[in-house]
Amino acid sequence: MQLVWFRNDLRTSDNSALYYACLKGPVTGIYFVTPGQWKSHNLAPIQADFIEQNLQSLSIELCALGIPLLIEEVTDFSQIPARLKQIQKVHHIEVIHANEEPEINEKKRDQAVKEAGLPLILYQCDCILEAGSVVTLQGDMYKVFSAFRNAWMKKIKQTDIRPLPKPRAQASPLDANRAQNVSLNYDKKSSQAWPAGEREALRRLRHFLLQDIEDYHHNRDIPSLDGTSGLSAYLRLGVISAKRCVNEVLAAFPYALDAQDSGVFSWLNEIVWREFYRHIMILNPQLCKGKNFNKLADNIIWNNNREDFKAWCEGRTGYGLVDAAMRQLNETGWMHNRLRMVTASFLTKHLLIDWRWGENYFMGKLIDGDLASNNGGWQWAASTGCDAQPYFRIFNPIIQSQKFDPEGLFIRKYIKELNEFDNKKIHFPVNAIVEHKQARLNALDRYSVLKKG
Ligand SMILES: Cc1cc2nc3c(=O)[nH]c(=O)nc-3n(C[C@H](O)[C@H](O)[C@H](O)COP(=O)(O)OP(=O)(O)OC[C@H]3O[C@@H](n4cnc5c(N)ncnc54)[C@H](O)[C@@H]3O)c2cc1C
Repeated sequence: MQLVWFRNDLRTSDNSALYYACLKGPVTGIYFVTPGQWKSHNLAPIQADFIEQNLQSLSIELCALGIPLLIEEVTDFSQIPARLKQIQKVHHIEVIHANEEPEINEKKRDQAVKEAGLPLILYQCDCILEAGSVVTLQGDMYKVFSAFRNAWMKKIKQTDIRPLPKPRAQASPLDANRAQNVSLNYDKKSSQAWPAGEREALRRLRHFLLQDIEDYHHNRDIPSLDGTSGLSAYLRLGVISAKRCVNEVLAAFPYALDAQDSGVFSWLNEIVWREFYRHIMILNPQLCKGKNFNKLADNIIWNNNREDFKAWCEGRTGYGLVDAAMRQLNETGWMHNRLRMVTASFLTKHLLIDWRWGENYFMGKLIDGDLASNNGGWQWAASTGCDAQPYFRIFNPIIQSQKFDPEGLFIRKYIKELNEFDNKKIHFPVNAIVEHKQARLNALDRYSVLKKG
């Protein structure tokens, strides 16, 4: 019997661990619910609910392949080796198969499982190109995103990126009634706006390819439009693989990697950002522990004013776009990328609050909360990261609002109080907690520790 240990790869297609385990013999699946670990990682209740829904769906998909799925609860990762040992005995497990994860605690967990003498084989299918395989001629990780992207795209052209198929059914399918009735022991918030399952993820991708991707470069920055794929939550839990996404894109738009000005290229560029942040994190594991990528940033003195932080969290800064964005996050569990940049910049530069506070707040709310992308995004906005926004570039929230929400459509959706304001007035602050010009000067002063030399 082979055991497939599912983590952030809740799918049956293009799942290396599952595919190769099925080639070896009969398979049982397992998923560990780890409420204590999730608490310490500040997993959002909406993401917990999304995990639950996707496990339910995976369990049904696996039944069709004749594979039962065990759901086991332990408090945290430290209890997994002992529990796996018991399971190995009861189910006569020969080998445990799993797909590797990029984060440090997850890597330590896997190491502990191996050190306990368990036969764990790890596969790589979280990134399309493995960390450490896209490097300079000297063998170093690229520090500039565009250079990384060019090298990544060059390599992709020479790589077979066909996704692995679903494995063949093991024996006769299991009765769908044997699918787990999954109920996770964790605080949950409904994720019903994001229907679960591989089919839904693929449907979203294909709909996006048909309807939106060619205009992505024009629409992606406008939060009142539905101009992006909405796939981040699915990619986060591995309900669909990034490789499958890129493969489908290139099948539909074979020219895409050479069409820099197209919407399709622009979307692939975002998938490369995902890979970039994962590669950086794997090669710099201290990032998982809240360290600045740029050591000079250790010298920034933050204000860390609790009242200001609370106002930011609750969408009460007085700046319409910032507040509408925070309310979108609090109400829906998702925030548009442009607004993640604007709100993160506002917290770190206007309020001079440590980016780690914001990073943690986002994790506790986002359906797609993901350590590598969230940390990358926060350190980019705070100018402390790898190829980050230069410290002297400080988003003006009024100009951002005029540019990306010119008619105030997005602001009005989330801030009913501003409904009566006309399209000019709506962008200007009302009872703001900081004044932009002064805040900018303060930030330039505090951030001057990042000046080279
Ligand atoms: C401060 C900040 C925090 C963020 N936190 C997260 C997070 O916790 N989880 C997360 O998945 N994304 C995060 N992002 C990236 C981005 O905002 C979301 O991935 C995107 O908004 C998701 O919407 P979409 O799926 O419609 O994206 P699309 O525009 O359709 O992009 C397609 C996919 O590319 C990836 N992607 C897009 N932009 C980025 C990016 N800047 N960095 C890394 N990957 C990207 C995502 O997987 C996304 O699903 C963060 C960005 C910032 C600035």
